[in-house]
Amino acid sequence: MSFQLIQLENNQANVTCPYCHQDVLDWNQEQYIQPCTHTLFIAIDLGFEYISHVYEATMQRSVDDIHANDDNIDVFHEISSADYADYVVYSSALGVADLQRYVGLSAREVM
Ligand SMILES: [Zn+2]
Repeated sequence: MSFQLIQLENNQANVTCPYCHQDVLDWNQEQYIQPCTHTLFIAIDLGFEYISHVYEATMQRSVDDIHANDDNIDVFHEISSADYADYVVYSSALGVADLQRYVGLSAREVM
């Protein structure tokens, strides 16, 4: 694994990019997913909500491939087997079943 996993305790709080301070998850917006230039991906255990091309290129298979077999998605496994180096993943509980949301952020701009 080439990322640092940070578990967030408050799943109601916005998730803010540490590099540009944009709210990448902004619960005040109807479209609450607001990727910044450092956002590698936003995902929940059931699938990807956002993926950057740069990050997807380092994954073992494409998001379309992963979603095509949606009975058997293991997002954490997919991000753990990507080759992208040195990034941070913020994880927070969705409050539904045992599902987690993951937000991957890199100090390098990816778009
Ligand atoms: Zn940012």
